[in-house]
Amino acid sequence: MSHRGEIASESAGPSIVAGEILVEIMATEPGLGFLEPLALMGPYPSGAPAIFIDQVARLGGGAGIIGCVGGDDFGTINLERLRRDGVDVSAVSVSDRYPTGSAFVRYRPDGGRDFVYNIAESAAGQIRLTPEARQLADKAGHLHVMGSTLSIPGLKEIVAHAVKAVRARGGSTSFDPNVRKELIDGADGAQFSALVDDADLLLPSGDELLATAGVDDETQAVAALMARGVGEIVLKRGAAGSTRFAADGSRMDCAGFLVEEVDPTGAGDCFGATYLTCRRRGMEPAKALFYANAAGARNVTRRGPMEGLAGFDVLDDFIAGTARAR
Ligand code: ATP
Ligand code: MG
Repeated sequence: MSHRGEIASESAGPSIVAGEILVEIMATEPGLGFLEPLALMGPYPSGAPAIFIDQVARLGGGAGIIGCVGGDDFGTINLERLRRDGVDVSAVSVSDRYPTGSAFVRYRPDGGRDFVYNIAESAAGQIRLTPEARQLADKAGHLHVMGSTLSIPGLKEIVAHAVKAVRARGGSTSFDPNVRKELIDGADGAQFSALVDDADLLLPSGDELLATAGVDDETQAVAALMARGVGEIVLKRGAAGSTRFAADGSRMDCAGFLVEEVDPTGAGDCFGATYLTCRRRGMEPAKALFYANAAGARNVTRRGPMEGLAGFDVLDDFIAGTARAR
């Protein structure tokens, strides 16, 4: 059993997520949007929660996902990938009415991205707290939540149930705020704040740390969040690596690996899943952070958000063969 503020060990039960399972289809050449016929590549299995949980499984961690796909090929390739990698998909329902969600992405020359999403009116928008979802939540040892998924109507109820269930069993939670400042408002603001307060592990990237804390300075933001009860914060800094802030006030920086970025999508989820799984296995924070940096960096070298996910053997080879900044 974990204490409040601590990440529960593997023995408490699998790590679970809930949210969108999508296919991603990407333009092969950078440019602006989709206003003329283009060469496209895909479908690739995708969706932030799916990327996260697949990486947990690749590292040998217990893993399960609550989601919904259509009864179509896009749903099949996702289910096959998740199953192949060892994710429990018993709580993924198959809609006979809605198609699997999708995201078309094209990289801009300046590094930005243009998207055309179909989520709300797809199977992903139909996710509900089904009996299978309850069953999975009721045996889980850790719940990971992403701020971006809370816009799916059924997610709020699932998350509320799962947080309680996991806590009741002595499990832990992590939260990736993954949402812009403008969106942390109104009725949803209450659940967002509660998830932050409740998080044993917070995984913001870049300015999300400041937006989540509501202050303009990194040190103040960390102090404010710790005062709210957050157990530890691991900040993702893209190519610059990452930093872990612990409740005892200590700070640990990890330089980024030097890689050629082919496709940045999924790095944050792959990183977070790796850090979490290493910690749940009982690894020291420094080693977990190092593996997480390696996993995030390796993931951006492959086209397709889940194509660069990797187990420990592949990560060890990557680490041995790749230089780091500084
Ligand atoms: P996403 O773009 O998927 O939303 P994110 O913004 O949450 O991700 P990033 O900071 O982009 O997260 O990436 C997560 C981690 O992956 C970084 O902290 C770093 O360790 C690694 N990483 C990402 N991009 C690169 C890169 N270009 N070079 C080296 N490492 C990288
Ligand atoms: Mg990023």
